[in-house]
Amino acid sequence: MDPAHLLALDARHVWHPYGPMPGQVEPLLVTEASGVRLRLADGRELVDGMSSWWAAIHGYRHPVLDAALAEQAGRMSHVMFGGLTHEPAIRLATKLVELTPPGLEHVFLCDSGSVSVEVAVKMCLQYWQSLGRKGKRRMLTWRGGYHGDTFHPMSVCDPDGGMHSLWRGVLPEQVFVPEPPGGFGAPVDQSYVDLLARVIEEYADELAGVIVEPVVQGAGGMRFHNPEYLRVLRELTEAHDVLLVFDEIATGFGRTGTLFAAEHAGVTPDVLCLGKALTGGYLSMAAALCTPEVADGISRGELPVLAHGPTFMANPLTSAIANASIDLLLSQDWQASVRRIETGLRAGLARAADLPAVADVRVLGAIGVIQLDHEVDLAVATKVVTECGVWLRPFRDLIYAMPPFVCTDAEVRSITEAMTAAARTA
Ligand SMILES: *Cc1c(COP(=O)(O)O)cnc(C)c1O
Repeated sequence: MDPAHLLALDARHVWHPYGPMPGQVEPLLVTEASGVRLRLADGRELVDGMSSWWAAIHGYRHPVLDAALAEQAGRMSHVMFGGLTHEPAIRLATKLVELTPPGLEHVFLCDSGSVSVEVAVKMCLQYWQSLGRKGKRRMLTWRGGYHGDTFHPMSVCDPDGGMHSLWRGVLPEQVFVPEPPGGFGAPVDQSYVDLLARVIEEYADELAGVIVEPVVQGAGGMRFHNPEYLRVLRELTEAHDVLLVFDEIATGFGRTGTLFAAEHAGVTPDVLCLGKALTGGYLSMAAALCTPEVADGISRGELPVLAHGPTFMANPLTSAIANASIDLLLSQDWQASVRRIETGLRAGLARAADLPAVADVRVLGAIGVIQLDHEVDLAVATKVVTECGVWLRPFRDLIYAMPPFVCTDAEVRSITEAMTAAARTA
């Protein structure tokens, strides 16, 4: 079909993320992707600064991942997971247990990040229910977070940015504390620690769990915080009989410079969510891992099972790709790649801080952020960055990049130049 016709059908029938129907802004038509480049129907090529929403860490059409997919498709693409099991899922679960912080031993594989957060919350609520502490059914989180778009995850997203007001009376009412003080290297603010202690103590009888994104708050505002707050949360939750959930869907698999962001704090949560880069951006999969204590608690309840079972749970194709993606990551000096990208982002964005409309520039691992003092004009920004040969998708007041780890220095430079150009005009 010719591109104009495809785009007309797209506008008429196809819903896009966070968009109206029919669509108002024409999306770019992609025909192929390889390495870190997206090829458009009009022949242009764009360096992808987004890793397809932070997932495609190895770039596109990686020969190792392509081969893993073809190999698994030659055996079986899918079988149900109730009553059946298979090597790709067993290997994946075992690998995740080995790689994640010590103490997480059990793995629930599911289809998307939001679903893994649903499962994590269900684990927390059911744990306390099983122990007869039925009042403990709320979650506490700090503001500025993002945990997905289904209902329970929405209830722990930032209450102002997350469209909560639309859902008053529908979403469970969770307990919010202010967002953590900004800055990975900023000194610990004792008054914030005291506040966390006060609120967790006050609500302890109602709280099933605390859920946070460790170190980096992603889609809620691309903010970084001192990992020490995670140690504080670990101590407080243990002291007050509250479970701790880390949502590492965005930070997992190297993005912040450690394999998992929890490692910056040396902390093991009771439940851990993974997604996005888990499959190198090829297919949708997520995981909720938990400790034996959580699993034992659930199994002692009236209903001794975790009542959750997606149709495509542990899909073999997806599991095989996840295994190949993780093995590929670990087979190389990925820390050096992330450090190299971090250096390139810092150097490339250094001068952006002096631009008139720029409120802040921050970099951590393979994450670079320019925060403006106003909302980005998305149409203008998209035009400017694509003219620089780069794909970025700013939101709110944020122009940011999360490049694939295989970006060369020159490609990182193109990305930072495009970000700076957008900050100047959008
Ligand atoms: C993207 C994201 C989610 C939601 O994952 P989906 O696969 O889009 O459902 C949840 N939590 C965090 C931290 C995320 O970045």
